[in-house]
Formats: sequence, structure tokens, C-alpha cells
Amino acid sequence: MNSFECSISSNHPDGDSLSAYLDEELEPTQRADIDRHLIDCDICTNELMSLDKSKQLLRGLAPVEPPAVFMFQFKNRHIRNFVLLGLGFVVLLLALVLLIPRQPAVSPPINHLASLHASTPAGRDPLSQVAPLGTSQ
Ligand SMILES: [Zn+2]
Repeated sequence: MNSFECSISSNHPDGDSLSAYLDEELEPTQRADIDRHLIDCDICTNELMSLDKSKQLLRGLAPVEPPAVFMFQFKNRHIRNFVLLGLGFVVLLLALVLLIPRQPAVSPPINHLASLHASTPAGRDPLSQVAPLGTSQ
């Protein structure tokens, strides 16, 4: 059974198939099957003409403008969603900043190292070992 065959009669294409035929959405073999059927079937030919007339009437209708209230609500909802998205982003950013572990503050014991440096012969104290080459004696 082909896809266009009707459940009422074994040979008549159904309405969806006739609509697809008019819109040129069928495969070439399906279209050829309907072409052959239309030659002998007045019922389907009349149905096809009626469907075509309906489609032409629908195409001729002016587009429907949405009511102003609908557009106002749509825009407000759009703005609200945008604001909520922005707030969500800010909350996420704050959570990341607050939850990322921080490195502990480094406070080298400068006074202790300075006194150690002053009391140790040159080249053996910790400051001389970490000092750049040009600054060591
Ligand atoms: Zn038919």
C-alpha cells in the first residue's frame, strides 16, 4: 500500500497526500501515482480543486497583528528574562569568586632574615643565596 492511499477506499489518496501533492512535496513516484489516479477519479480531482481553492484563500488573508497587550506582555517577559539571566550570571560569578580557594598571604620574616644576614659571613646566609647574582658580594 502506498502512503497516499486512503483508509476509506483502497485507491483514493488521503487529504494529507493531496495537500503534499499541491505543495509539490511528494517523491516523483508518489506524484506519478496520484497523477495516474486523478485521470480516472472525479472525487479526488474535485477534492484536489477544493483543497487548492482553500489554500489560495488562506494565502490571500492579511497577516494577523497581535494585540498591543500581547506585544507589551511579550516585551516585558523578554526583558524580565534578560534581567534574570544577567542576575544569574552575576550570582554565578560571585559564587566562583567566593568559592575559589585563595593562596594564603605570604609574609616572609624579613626582620629575622635581615638580622641573620647581618650576623652571618657573606655567602652563607639565606638572603645571599636567594639574591640575584649582581647584588651578592
Ligand atoms: Zn480517488
